[in-house]
Amino acid sequence: MEVLRTVTELRRWSRAARGALGNTIGANRIGLVPTMGALHAGHASLIHAARAACTHVAVSLFVNPTQFGPNEDYARYPRSFEADCALAKSEGADVLFAPTVEELYPSGSDSTFVEVPGLSNCLDGASRPGHFRGVATVVAKLLIAAEPDLAFFGQKDAAQVAVLRRMVADLRLATEIVVCPIVRDSDGLALSSRNAYLTPAERTQALTLSRAIRHVESLVTQGERRSEPLLAAAHEVFAAEPAVRIDYIALVDWSTLLPVATAAPDTLFAIAAWVGATRLIDNTILR
Ligand code: AMP
Repeated sequence: MEVLRTVTELRRWSRAARGALGNTIGANRIGLVPTMGALHAGHASLIHAARAACTHVAVSLFVNPTQFGPNEDYARYPRSFEADCALAKSEGADVLFAPTVEELYPSGSDSTFVEVPGLSNCLDGASRPGHFRGVATVVAKLLIAAEPDLAFFGQKDAAQVAVLRRMVADLRLATEIVVCPIVRDSDGLALSSRNAYLTPAERTQALTLSRAIRHVESLVTQGERRSEPLLAAAHEVFAAEPAVRIDYIALVDWSTLLPVATAAPDTLFAIAAWVGATRLIDNTILR
């Protein structure tokens, strides 16, 4: 597995892989898995899915400063380059793209940004102003550089998926967004690089999120579709664990991120909550 540091190298790799440099055009499929590193089994599942669907797989590793707010954890975000290389390689990545901040933001604070209005102010965007502007911008840069046929994202960040699907549609990009299921620990906690911040006590409190998700899923299975009782039931689960502070609990249409009165196919039930100083998210798509 080769480590690439510049956009030019990534583009050259992608174009060579596609066949523009002499192979049969159309035979190859390029997959991209964007990550911020500190890779875990959730990331591995995306790389695995890319490996199964594509002839050539790039994993990007970039802690994107523009998606962090001024008081967020950019500086202390976990970084583990050597272990990340080993995991990406063992899952079958062909290249790892690990640029510097200057490489992706050559104009510094005067950079060009990509805005996805409306959606970017919902859910995590409401709690983290500017977050989705940063996400849309960096993913646009990666898609323009790597020109992948498929780009793989986790349902774990469901609002991010909605924002990126809209961006790809609006910019008429040639990449298809593939969404992979949430990978969880055996006790239900959704894997996240930020789980590393949790103390043992907080790790136990963090199970409140997946407990509420499962409770709402079971109510839907029993036939409840109305938003009000479903949200109330989730709030009750959190009431039993007062150490965990709710940021939002929402039942929304997955493509518009707007609240719905009744659950229907593709309704997103999503939670964000603070466990100590760590903000965690979890969700389920109610089918
Ligand atoms: P991150 O490195 O946190 O920016 O995540 C990179 C990609 O991995 C995103 O598309 C995430 O949605 C995805 N991801 C993170 N955690 C999980 C998980 N537990 N299961 C599946 N995908 C995940």
